[in-house]
Amino acid sequence: MERFTRSFTQQEPIPEDAIAAAVAVMRSGRLHRYGADPSEVAALEVEFAARIGAAHCIAVASGGYALGCAMRALGVGPDDPVLTNGWTLAPVPGAIAAIGATPVLIEVGEDLTIDLDDLSAKAGRARVLLLSHMRGHLCDMDRLMAVCDAAGVTVIEDCAHTMGAAWNGTPSGRWGAVGCFSTQTYKHVNSGEGGLIVTDDPDLAARMVLLSGSYMLHARNGTAPAQAVFDRHAATVPNVSGRMDEVRAAILRPQIGALSGQVARWNALYAALEGAFARAPGLSVVPRPPKERFVGSSIQVLADPHGDVAGFVGACGDRGVEWKWFGGAAATGFTSTHRHWGYVAAQDLPRTDAVLARLLDMRIPLTFDRDDCAVVGRIVAEEARRHLT
Ligand SMILES: *Cc1c(COP(=O)(O)O)cnc(C)c1O
Repeated sequence: MERFTRSFTQQEPIPEDAIAAAVAVMRSGRLHRYGADPSEVAALEVEFAARIGAAHCIAVASGGYALGCAMRALGVGPDDPVLTNGWTLAPVPGAIAAIGATPVLIEVGEDLTIDLDDLSAKAGRARVLLLSHMRGHLCDMDRLMAVCDAAGVTVIEDCAHTMGAAWNGTPSGRWGAVGCFSTQTYKHVNSGEGGLIVTDDPDLAARMVLLSGSYMLHARNGTAPAQAVFDRHAATVPNVSGRMDEVRAAILRPQIGALSGQVARWNALYAALEGAFARAPGLSVVPRPPKERFVGSSIQVLADPHGDVAGFVGACGDRGVEWKWFGGAAATGFTSTHRHWGYVAAQDLPRTDAVLARLLDMRIPLTFDRDDCAVVGRIVAEEARRHLT
């Protein structure tokens, strides 16, 4: 029987120009962003803001920190309700819990995006929506913004899986008041840990720079608003240290420059797997709407509910093909669901639960090639025939 032997978690090496830049930072001894002038972090902020068309960018310690920083800057505090997706990664409800706020979970549909009818029904309960583009699936952003604008809800976008993606021509991260990105190893650029925040609002930008810890050197942020804006906030915004350092920014700048090429490579691998999975009985690849420009860094399928999903996942695993199944009783790896988030009050999400019971997720590392996708596709089709029909 054919077996697949490559790792689903093996990243590409850091590009040589990024390594050279990081070594130069280390030789300088100036690893703190506010101690380096010129600063790699400030340059990264300028370049990322320009790439995505935002007025301001703030580089921080992680994607999770970025989410918390954005909520704090918007004035979300203890016991405030925050709307968010019923299916997302644990750092999203975690960021809400970390500031003492209360997640209000919204149903997710078979397209894996937030259910806009459920959002409409619950929008009156909160001032802020922390919208997670989980696994890179974008909802109808035009309609979502209309719902939120009508209800007076401010949107923060969690773009951990959508760096390089867009809806209807507008990049993800540019629809809401704030967009938050992760540069953690398993996202679209790799600095180990890290986060990037974008906004057009100078007051929010100033508050987030101050929050991240700027020691009065806030004007050295690459896209700093005017001093008068900082003067409005400096006395009242606490320092909640979470800056990015110079080494990570040095590693990221060449990767941001190369992102478009990487997106094309991801989408070619995605297309190869999508074609192969389309031939597997009992599995349907979650469709991508024409208005969505996505980054195929992972692929999601829904299994036939009458099949033996656990048997299918186990048999694929025995042959080296790793699926993450969100329907398992226990959370394994990153597959925790709202039922496992003991710090969030239990909420009734029957539609989401029905989707998660059938949801299988596969990471697509750029260390795979088309031949690898063909092997994975053959194994999946064979085991689907055995277990899902
Ligand atoms: C990874 C991730 C985050 C948080 O990013 P970190 O940089 O790991 O803190 C947030 N949301 C989603 C959907 C993620 O996958």
